[in-house]
Amino acid sequence: MSSDDDFRQRVRSFLARHGPTEGWMRDEHGRPPPDDAPDEVRVARARRCLSLLFDAGLGAISWPQLYGGQGLSNRHQVIFNEEAAGYALPLDMFIIGVGMCAPTVLAHGTEEQRSRHLPPLLRGDEIWCQLFSEPGAGSDLAAVCCRAEQDTGGWVVNGQKVWTSGAHNAAFGMLLARSDPASSRHAGMTMLIVDMSLPGIEIRPLRQMSGVSRFNEVFFDDCLLGPDAALGEVGQGWRTAITTLMNERVSIGTSNPAGYGHPATVLAAEARRRGRIDDPAIADRISQLMIRERITALLGKRVTEALLAGVQPGPEGSLAKLSGTQVSQASASLALEILGSEAVAWDAADALAASWSTVQCSTPGLSIAGGTDEIMRNLLAERVLGLPREPKRPSNDASESVP
Ligand SMILES: Cc1cc2nc3c(=O)[nH]c(=O)nc-3n(C[C@H](O)[C@H](O)[C@H](O)COP(=O)(O)OP(=O)(O)OC[C@H]3O[C@@H](n4cnc5c(N)ncnc54)[C@H](O)[C@@H]3O)c2cc1C
Repeated sequence: MSSDDDFRQRVRSFLARHGPTEGWMRDEHGRPPPDDAPDEVRVARARRCLSLLFDAGLGAISWPQLYGGQGLSNRHQVIFNEEAAGYALPLDMFIIGVGMCAPTVLAHGTEEQRSRHLPPLLRGDEIWCQLFSEPGAGSDLAAVCCRAEQDTGGWVVNGQKVWTSGAHNAAFGMLLARSDPASSRHAGMTMLIVDMSLPGIEIRPLRQMSGVSRFNEVFFDDCLLGPDAALGEVGQGWRTAITTLMNERVSIGTSNPAGYGHPATVLAAEARRRGRIDDPAIADRISQLMIRERITALLGKRVTEALLAGVQPGPEGSLAKLSGTQVSQASASLALEILGSEAVAWDAADALAASWSTVQCSTPGLSIAGGTDEIMRNLLAERVLGLPREPKRPSNDASESVP
């Protein structure tokens, strides 16, 4: 057997051994286990999953050993992803830290920052959050006005961030702040690593329509960061932010936000169960969804393979993000058609309807998180297709921006 086969076998036996006891199995419809547990339980479950992976030599597979990874090849990571796709590993909460912050620390951090932060970040011991959006700076991220002033003791931060996913669980955050008050737009920003337990930081949860509070407002009031907090060059925060944003689109685009391995297959089974599979309109929508699902999977594969081959993610990651969003939203809408009112006002005993109801409430946000659909289309039009740029407005150059 080749070493690839050995590795695949190792991954398979690991998943077969731990999947049933750890609650990582999908049911016969491809559904993941319900995810309505309190946050402390979700964090503990996610950490346990990562620690089991690391104990088995399967955590941070293609990251350098120097920073806590296994030092294996990108091909090994692809093999792992293929085998793990059939399971529901509870690792969503590390998408921001491992998928976005870790590559940014690796690309722009000093050697001290890499050695200090990457090992606990990759192991999930320290959860990270992304402090970019502000009430007046979302699509137009270059309008960031949260202030970071450099003084002899370090950096003093004042201002507000919003929509900060997971800030309440985070040990560290990556903060995009304006360090030169005379600057405007893309110049004069600095990326800073923030210890989220410092005095002068207030985290207020925002309640989402699904009933959970997974993002927050974060207020900085004379919060003092150390002199070594800058990630990347002072005044070059935009450059550092671009690395995070490109990885964000890839992370979101290659994840499975609706939580279903193959939503078209799940919905076909549901339509059959309810005697609706022979309705030509339903059958047509299921086929369309299946095609879009397949295209999205291939887009995701192309982006992941480029990334694993060492190519920095580019604007084409927007295609995977946009396509993944469309599949998730089309699945939610088709579930509503098939399940009817049960997909919004369910019988508590009907776990399938309950889980689709959660999907109904969470998929609209996918058109906003990580850059809106409109901004993704702008980026694809201008940066990938080379179409003429949007006319520039002095106060809103959104085609350059976007978290
Ligand atoms: C679930 C979720 C999680 C999030 N997590 C985080 C996080 O962890 N950290 C973080 O920093 N942020 C996070 N965000 C915030 C997210 O990045 C912003 O909401 C997003 O970038 C949009 O910004 P905005 O809300 O200010 O909307 P706006 O930028 O005000 O946009 C309003 C509308 O105008 C449209 N629009 C704006 N400019 C243009 C243009 N040039 N052309 C065409 N249409 C345009 C937009 O598409 C949108 O429909 C999260 C958001 C969601 C929904």
